[in-house]
Amino acid sequence: MIYNVAGLLTGKLGDSQQHEIENERFVIGDRSIKEISGPVRLMRTDRTVLVSADIEAVTQDSCSRCLEPAVVNVSVTMEEEFSPINANLMGTEKSGQNVHENDDYYDAALVVDEQNFLDLTEGLGQALLSALPIAPICKDDCLGICPICTVNRNIIQCSCSKSSVDPRWAGLAGLLEKGAESAD
Ligand SMILES: [Zn+2]
Ligand SMILES: [Zn+2]
Repeated sequence: MIYNVAGLLTGKLGDSQQHEIENERFVIGDRSIKEISGPVRLMRTDRTVLVSADIEAVTQDSCSRCLEPAVVNVSVTMEEEFSPINANLMGTEKSGQNVHENDDYYDAALVVDEQNFLDLTEGLGQALLSALPIAPICKDDCLGICPICTVNRNIIQCSCSKSSVDPRWAGLAGLLEKGAESAD
């Protein structure tokens, strides 16, 4: 996911490159993301390289219902501008237009380095992380954990749900009982 964009930087406005990510993987933070696939288009703007990518990937998480490992599919449409350290290659006459670490808009993940390599890994990783579902599930019909006896109801069919108290209200019923006791 590292592209040499020297040709784009020295080329014309609107020049573009087309790439394809095929079944790549990387680790970002403590999360392993794999089966990363999709088209990547790099286009030269007046001051930057615009990256457009439609990426699909797979990662592991814990099911938010049953807490068992869940395979999570994630897809992201990324559109980011990468600023070249070698801004002079783009024919800008004015000095002081290079990217510097103290610039407000400086983002280390979105920079074309001194050797004119554009590394998509960090920017794409961040985009994938932010696209992860907040409450992943292992399968659409995951039954989750029984709130009363805490078994995994995908594996064990407990009898709690057959009791007179609807498990969704069990907590509330408990509170009411406590309330009644303290009222005595
Ligand atoms: Zn589950
Ligand atoms: Zn139960």
